[in-house]
Formats: sequence, C-alpha cells, structure tokens
Amino acid sequence: MRHVAIVGSGPAGYYTAEALTKLLEGRVKIDIIDRLPVPFGLIRTGVAPDHQSIKAVSRRYEAVALRDDVRFVGNMTVGVDVSIEELMQLYDAVVLATGAPNDRPLDIPGADLPGVVGSAAFVGWYNGHPDHADLAPRLDTTAAAIIGNGNVALDVARILAKTPEEFAGSDIVGHAYHALPDSSIRTITLLGRRGPHQIAMTPKELGELAHLARAAPRVDPLDLPPIEEDALLEPGMRKSVGHLRDFAANPVARPQTIEFDFYAMPVAIEGDGRAERVIVERTVLDDQLRSVGTGERYAIPAGLIVACIGYQTPSIPGVPYEHGRGRFANADGLILPGLYCVGWARRGPSGTIGTNKPDGVRIAERIVADTGGSDAAGSNRRGRSGLDALIAARGIDIATFRDWQQIDAAEVAAARADAPREKMVRIDAMLAAKSPGR
Ligand code: NAP
Repeated sequence: MRHVAIVGSGPAGYYTAEALTKLLEGRVKIDIIDRLPVPFGLIRTGVAPDHQSIKAVSRRYEAVALRDDVRFVGNMTVGVDVSIEELMQLYDAVVLATGAPNDRPLDIPGADLPGVVGSAAFVGWYNGHPDHADLAPRLDTTAAAIIGNGNVALDVARILAKTPEEFAGSDIVGHAYHALPDSSIRTITLLGRRGPHQIAMTPKELGELAHLARAAPRVDPLDLPPIEEDALLEPGMRKSVGHLRDFAANPVARPQTIEFDFYAMPVAIEGDGRAERVIVERTVLDDQLRSVGTGERYAIPAGLIVACIGYQTPSIPGVPYEHGRGRFANADGLILPGLYCVGWARRGPSGTIGTNKPDGVRIAERIVADTGGSDAAGSNRRGRSGLDALIAARGIDIATFRDWQQIDAAEVAAARADAPREKMVRIDAMLAAKSPGR
C-alpha cells in the first residue's frame, strides 16, 4: 500500500488524487487535508458565483472524494494541527496543493488606505471565504478602480456591475447579494499598465461585458493598435482583442460604465484618511513589451480600489520557497524527497481550472515512479491510521466528506428563490451544520 497526503482540496488536489487512484488502483490510500471544513478550494471560493458551469466541475471531484481509498479531512490546518514533518513521517508522499490564496502586494504609496483591497479579499468576500466575510468593501462611492487586466479583474468588474436579477442562479453569498444593489458606483475603471495586445483576459469572459443589464464597456479607439497587427496574435487573444474593438466601435449608453484605461500604471493612491483617487502614470512599451513610465501623470477618482494583480502561495516554515514567483521552490513538482507541490503552489497563479488536470497527472506519475513504480509492494508507513491517532490525541474536530454533504444539504435547503444555495461563511456555522445539536 502507498500512503499519500494531499494538502489542499481544490482542483489541483482532487486531480492529483484522481490520477493516483487510476495509476495505483487498490494500492493507494489518500488523505486530502484542508483547513476549511468544506472542500473544493477555488471552486467554492474563487471561481465567480455567476460562473456556475465552471463550478460544476466539483461533481467530478465528488466522485473521487466518495471512493473508499480517498478521504477528506477538513478543519485541519497543516502547520498548526499537524506539521509537515509529521505528515512526511506518516506518508510515502506529501503533496502541497495549497493554491495561491494571498494577494501579490501592491507596492505603491497609499496602498494601505481604507478603500484599497486585494482581489483575494474581494473575491473571497462575495464568494463566502470565511477569512474575508467581514471585509465590507466600500460601495458608497461613485467610482471604483480595478488594477490589472486579467480574468480576475474582469470577474470583479462584472460582479460590481451586475443587478440583483443578473445573480439569479448564482451562489453569491447573502451579504454581498444584499450589499451590491446599494452600491453608488457609476464608473468602474480597469487599469492596464500595458496595451490591448497585452491583456490576460480570455474571450468568453471579456465578451460577457457586452451583455450586462445596466453597465457598458468603453474602450478608447485611439488605444487600439493597427488592426493588421491582430494577425500576429494567437487565436484566443485575437478574439479577445476583437471584443475590445467592438466595445470601441459600438459605445453603448448605460447607467454604469466599465472604462478600459490602457498604458496606465498606478503609482500612488491618495486621499484624506481613505482612498479617493489613483495617481496613474502613462506608459509606453519597450522592445521587450514591458511598460515604461513616460512621466505624464493624472488622477482617477476612486473610493474603492481593487488590486487584481495576481496571487502568491503562503510559505510554510521549513519548506523551500521561491520568493520572486510566490510559489514553492521545486523541480517539476519535487520540493524535497517525499514532498511535492502541484497546481498554483507549483507553477504560480496561471492557467485555468483545467490546467490543473495534466499537472495532477504529472505529479501522480512522478510519485508512483519515486515510490518504486506501480507494481512495488509499497511501504509500511502508518498513513491514515497514524493521522487518526494524532487527530484523536490532539482532539481535532475534523470534518469528513459526509459532514460536507450535510453542510451542502443545509446550504441548499436554505436557498433563496434566485440562488441555488445560501452559502455559509462562518466556520462555526459549518461545524454546527455537520453535527446538528452541538
Ligand atoms: P493574471 O492573469 O496574471 O493578470 C494579472 C494582471 O495584473 C496583468 O494584467 C498584469 O499586468 C497586472 N499587474 C501585475 N502587477 C501589476 C502592478 N504592479 N501594477 C499594475 N498591474 C499589474 O492574474 P489574475 O487575473 O489574478 O488571474 C490568475 C489566473 O486565474 C489566470 O491564469 C487567469 O486566467 C485565471 N482565471 C481564470 C478565470 C476564467 O477562466 N474564467 C477567471 C479568473 C481567473 P502585466 O501583464 O503587465 O504583468
């Protein structure tokens, strides 16, 4: 028998577990450990609540979770309840699938003013992450600025723009659903430090901006490169840029606008005790397509500023870390003998949910090879029984997959007419729902 612990129950964790069960059918036992009592990581708390078709992939993870050789151990924090060293003693392989839940810091003066938030916090707020349930972002402002030109910036702009009716069928949490309609925001400015050909926005997500009920996208035609240059782009990017060209050619008047401000590098945030404006420097691109400031500066009023500039993996004491890239130091997923990483914890925050599938397969193949190949007898490590002994000795109130099913059922039962579930945002409430009457 091979014993594997996977830390993190998001897409990277479940794809790794799925691949391991296929490669080692009947010869592996896997524990998926998560600090939250609920599984699925980014699917539950990262993917936008109005993108239910993407979230539906959790059904595939559920099929893995319900296998006898895979178990979910929720409400257990590695580094607090159990150390990495302890896990490495108990299991043949420990895989860090911890994602990248921390914001890359926005390193400009004024970034700590009230009204400035990172996308991890803002997305976590509307998506029900217990860490961010109390964020209460400023919505009593007429202007918001979003820093970054990636898909997360698009998610944030869209969520700020949607009407309550447009959240029908979503799983947006109650506190955001009730707060957003009271927002005074009329202008949402998306700040890109480079140009339309350097956006990191996928066509489907960008195209959605044209179909919002009360908001319309605006692009300055003068920012667009000559149309012949689109031929040099790969097809997906060409399609995205096509959307920007449509937005520029067909400006629509709606009560709210989503302005694309390109070649616009935020250099400071100013305000009297709270954010009131972003100071932006005009940029040009150098021959490596990097943004270079021109010295020309202007101010964009904004009482809410959301930095969507990428994420980083939290470091773990004793685990080698690559600070520049915000991920664990690794060679193709191997950190140290017996310790691996996968997904965003391995490669940094890039790609879609699906990118984690081949990543999981690759790390599973590597673990099989490193532990003697698929036919090896396996080890006499204690694995699951050792973890159980430790859980009992420390009195850790773990949440199993069955507990999650109870929480899930309670959320669905509490659903409103316009949303498929009423998501719990407090760990206490989740734990109470798993064991009614506690
Ligand atoms: P991202 O795609 O890396 O985009 C980050 C953006 O922030 C880039 O435009 C970048 O500009 C800009 N930026 C970085 N540092 C900056 C700074 N100091 N000042 C100003 N701008 C700065 O990251 P993301 O949007 O967080 O997305 C993370 C991953 O999740 C991506 O792979 C994304 O596709 C994926 N995702 C997918 C979906 C979906 O498929 N529906 C939804 C959400 C997220 P430069 O290019 O100039 O560096």
